[in-house]
Amino acid sequence: MEHIAVPVSDQVREVVQAVVEALQAPKVDEISPLVTANSFEADALRAEIIRVGRKLWERQYVDGNGGNISVRLGSKYVLCTPTMLSKGDLEPADICLSDLEGNILAGDRSRTSELLLHLEIYKANSRARAVLHCHPPYATAFAITGTIPPNGLIPEYEVFIGPAAVAPYETPGTQAFAETVLPYVQEHNTILLGNHGIVCWADTVTHAEWLAEILDTYCKTYLIAKQIGEPLKFIPDSKIEEILALKRRLGFPDARMGRIAETVEMAKGKHTAELDQLVEQVVARLEGRD
Ligand SMILES: [Zn+2]
Repeated sequence: MEHIAVPVSDQVREVVQAVVEALQAPKVDEISPLVTANSFEADALRAEIIRVGRKLWERQYVDGNGGNISVRLGSKYVLCTPTMLSKGDLEPADICLSDLEGNILAGDRSRTSELLLHLEIYKANSRARAVLHCHPPYATAFAITGTIPPNGLIPEYEVFIGPAAVAPYETPGTQAFAETVLPYVQEHNTILLGNHGIVCWADTVTHAEWLAEILDTYCKTYLIAKQIGEPLKFIPDSKIEEILALKRRLGFPDARMGRIAETVEMAKGKHTAELDQLVEQVVARLEGRD
C-alpha cells in the first residue's frame, strides 16, 4: 500500500517551526512604545488610573492639580498621570507613557513632575507595581508634625500597613525629594512625606489607593479617640504577633518583620565564625554525629 501521509520529518519540521515562531513572537517589552501604549493591557491600566483618580478626588485626598498615580507596564514602561490636571477630570488620552528614566514616549500631555518619586520607588523595590501620591488631610496633618500615629489600635491598619514612616522634607518635584523615601521603601508600603502628603506602593493602583484610605482613616480615628479623653486600649503584643504571622503568609511588608531580617543580615556579616559554628552543630546533629 502506498504511504500517502506527510513524512514524519516534515511533521517534526512543522512543529519545530511553530515553536520557533512562538519563541520569536514579540514580548511586551520588545514591542515599540506606541504599540505598548495602545495594548489592551495599557487600556485596562488607564481605566484603573482614571477610576482611582476619581476616588481620590471624591474622598478629598487631592485638591487643585495635586496628587499623582502611576503603574508599571511590563519591565520597561510606566503609565502616569499628567501635570496640571485634577485627578477628578482624567481622560484616557491624558495618561502618559514613560520609560524608567522619566522620558515621555506617548500621551498628549506633560507628565507629573513627581514621576521621579515614583521611578525611585520602582527602581528600589521590584514588588512595587503601582505608586500613588496624595494629600489626605489627617495623614498630612501627621506629616507636618513629622510624626506617625502609634501602632496597635486597629487590626486592619496593622495588616495592610503596620508602622508607617516619615520621610524628611525636600522641594517637591526634585530628584532630592524623590530620594527622600529610599531608606524606607523596602519595609514600608506607606510613607508620610514631611510637610507634604503621603506616598503608597502596592501590586495594583487600586490596592495603593486602599493604603491611602486605611492610613487616613486610621489617623482620623486615632485623633477622635484621643479627644474622648480615656486612655487608649492597645491590642496585646501576642495578638500583634498573630497579625505579623498573617502578613508573612500574605507577603505584605512590615518594618517589624524587616528588623528581624536585618538582624539576621547583621549576624551574617559580623559574626560569621559564630554562624559557621552554629551551622556545623546543626549539620552534625542531622548527621547523627552528636
Ligand atoms: Zn504632592
